[in-house]
Amino acid sequence: MNEIEIIKPDDWHVHFRDGEILKAVVPETSRDFSRAIVMPNLIPPVLNEKDAIEYKKRILKAVPYKDNFTPFMTLYLTEHTNKNDLKEAYLNQSVFAAKLYPAGATTNSSSGVKDIKRIMPILETMTEIGMPLLIHGEVTNKSIDIFDREKVFIDTVLDFICRKLPNLKITLEHITTKEAVLYIKQGNKSLAASITPHHLALNRNALFDGGIRPHNYCLPILKREKHREALIKVATSGNEKFFLGSDTAPHLIADKENSCGCAGVFNATYCLSVLTQIFENEKKLPYLEKFISINGSKHYNLKTNKLKIKLVKTSKPLTFQKKLNVNNQNIQIFNPDFPIFWKVS
Ligand SMILES: [Zn+2]
Repeated sequence: MNEIEIIKPDDWHVHFRDGEILKAVVPETSRDFSRAIVMPNLIPPVLNEKDAIEYKKRILKAVPYKDNFTPFMTLYLTEHTNKNDLKEAYLNQSVFAAKLYPAGATTNSSSGVKDIKRIMPILETMTEIGMPLLIHGEVTNKSIDIFDREKVFIDTVLDFICRKLPNLKITLEHITTKEAVLYIKQGNKSLAASITPHHLALNRNALFDGGIRPHNYCLPILKREKHREALIKVATSGNEKFFLGSDTAPHLIADKENSCGCAGVFNATYCLSVLTQIFENEKKLPYLEKFISINGSKHYNLKTNKLKIKLVKTSKPLTFQKKLNVNNQNIQIFNPDFPIFWKVS
């Protein structure tokens, strides 16, 4: 197979940031994707309908004229979120979902939730109106080993929410462990998970390959090979509970190559090339469309896109552009460092 045509994909988890970075990165997503869910962890975060409407305007302004792209906005849940305001924003279709960050879990998450019980009334309202809850699924207790934080979150927080509110539509985002795969598979019908290209491509050795590799540092952190294998197996299986959320997360190189470097991998530019190669390597190309174009829409009760895209196999491996320029500074573009022969035509 040297060419495949599939429904145009969606990316169900992106970080566009703001200002000059936003202007540089939005076209990298809008070129290949029809829709994306945009994360609200700006400084300050997107907390209410007005913030979301303003942010959406800034994003749409950065979309090149030729691209047909719709951003779906999210609100950042805090222990002070007003459930009536949240409901109104959702019913007005200004926002698509709400995002739960445990306080301190990742970039700009200090306003997040410390005690899940305090937001249960909000989650009940979301269940009533059908509003999706997106979750960064890691505990933030520093006494828990960083490689175990997702598993402990599932056992102590996610399971609690799923038992209390079995009908709440939940996406456990950017899953990284075999425990998460198992929990989602066996979990409520309304529970699904997104997976990133970098967690499919790399295991934790990529953090320390001949020296420390800040550009492979992300949260949740890369895990052991057995976990990557579990992610690969389920992502390429066609299972409808699993779909792409790239978690493309730009930071300036100066903020990554730093004595306290930021977490995040900017993978938008070659996302589809990397994923197509991974599916081909697994001999699972026929399931690619489900993972990137169908399963997510179904989970969110949306129609799949009408447009199609073509992926073409090249005779030589692609040469990746290394950096994306932002006002005389740069963002490093994710490169998994194995040969990639697929490009979007
Ligand atoms: Zn993210």
